[in-house]
Amino acid sequence: MAICPECETDLDLDEEEIDEGEIVSCPECGSDFEVVTKHPLELNPVDELDEDEDDEDVDEEDEDSDY
Ligand SMILES: [Zn+2]
Repeated sequence: MAICPECETDLDLDEEEIDEGEIVSCPECGSDFEVVTKHPLELNPVDELDEDEDDEDVDEEDEDSDY
């Protein structure tokens, strides 16, 4: 089982039907991922743009500020 790193949708991949280096697409958010390893199943985002998109949803780490 593989979970989309972008939207956490179950990609429902069968390890026996994919190969390392294969590109899979998430049906939910449309993101493409390369199969890096199968054991464990590891997906690497394929970005056409050479940019990091880290400036949204970055609020999970700062728990110790008493706001
Ligand atoms: Zn997705």
